[in-house]
Amino acid sequence: MESVQGSCLDAIQEMDGLIKELYPICRSITGNGVRQTLQIIQRRIPLSIREVPSGTQVFDWTVPKEWNIRDAFIKNPQGEKVVDFAKSNLHVVSYSTAFRGKLSLQELKQHLFTLPDRPQWIPYRTSYYKETWGFCLSHEQLLRMEDGDYEVVIDASLEDGHLSYGEYYLPGESADEFLLSCHICHPSLCNDNLSGISVMVALATHMSSARPRYSYRFLFVPGTIGSITWLALHESQVSSIKHGIVISGVGDRGAFTYKKSRRGDAEIDRVFSYVLRTAGDNSKIIDFHPYGYDERQFCSPGFNLAVGCVMRTPFGQYPEYHTSADNLEFISLKSLSDSFDKCVSALDILDNNRLYSNQNPKCEPQLGKRGLYQSVGGQTQSRVNEMAALWVLNLSDGMHSLLDIAERSGYSFEAIKSAAGSLVEHQLLKELPVRSE
Ligand code: ZN
Repeated sequence: MESVQGSCLDAIQEMDGLIKELYPICRSITGNGVRQTLQIIQRRIPLSIREVPSGTQVFDWTVPKEWNIRDAFIKNPQGEKVVDFAKSNLHVVSYSTAFRGKLSLQELKQHLFTLPDRPQWIPYRTSYYKETWGFCLSHEQLLRMEDGDYEVVIDASLEDGHLSYGEYYLPGESADEFLLSCHICHPSLCNDNLSGISVMVALATHMSSARPRYSYRFLFVPGTIGSITWLALHESQVSSIKHGIVISGVGDRGAFTYKKSRRGDAEIDRVFSYVLRTAGDNSKIIDFHPYGYDERQFCSPGFNLAVGCVMRTPFGQYPEYHTSADNLEFISLKSLSDSFDKCVSALDILDNNRLYSNQNPKCEPQLGKRGLYQSVGGQTQSRVNEMAALWVLNLSDGMHSLLDIAERSGYSFEAIKSAAGSLVEHQLLKELPVRSE
């Protein structure tokens, strides 16, 4: 990873260290690699690790058997290991059943996967819901394999066990929740899973010291089956979730991208639009579509939660996606740090986006006698606050949130928030309950 100088150095070091520690682990949708990953996260934030038994019915799905792998290799007719799981955990198709036997190259080829267009990269393949086995290797490795009998060993088990996921609940002033979720089910792939995990851990650390208004729920789940399982087991609690984001690939060098919730005009969508517009870089906003990461489940019509998805280059749109080239060099600390900063801005704005009512709505209140207006031109900063205060007073009619006022006035959210704070102190504003969406 390239280095970066910036603010939040602690967060950057935390993300960098976590990614390097998690990179070698062989994760899948179940198994000890997921548990080990959750235990490492648990050393940084107070995560609860939950175990759901195989066979549990979760809506239209069933929690699968637990997969664990110890070793796997292919030996050529000379007895040399030509493919070795110990060298890369991508070499074995995830969820491969145990196998031991001798096969001709012709027979073996039915179980081999390569990328002829990228002959040096190992592809990443899974077979979660069909019991089979296979190996992934670089096309160059395949071309070096000569005719003859090959010894194949996959020392793996697929048996009743558990699906593991992690959950950290940070209570705020309100029981209304902000949900953050990321997937934890990929082996040695950096952008696709480790970048999201690391940004989410850094956000959890940040919010823990922020005394937030909302309660925050951080979910570390295997993709698809994990979010389906969580939703199925917590259906009665889902109505508390008012806002949320899924964090996916946030470490590659592409532009920051926010994918809107299915609703398209939820407060979280408006907050990210505001953050990205004011960032003035080449960030992008894209509309909801029903494929991608776990926003598919949170935004399914039976839930329709206000959950967006943050990423950089969308999945599948970079050649390194689901290959061994999605490695430590592929992601950049600058991108991770920028993704973290944008999420922090969005969370801070959303947590502080309140609705007020002007307590002196008939003509302007006299700000001068309250020390809120300098009749002699003062510093630039105080001028801004006076103007911001006039905007807040004028638009605080119960219909406009602080974000609405920031957008309409052109003043920063921070300036509007601080003006509102002064006006509340002087009893000129009163906070109203949040509009329910
Ligand atoms: Zn993936």
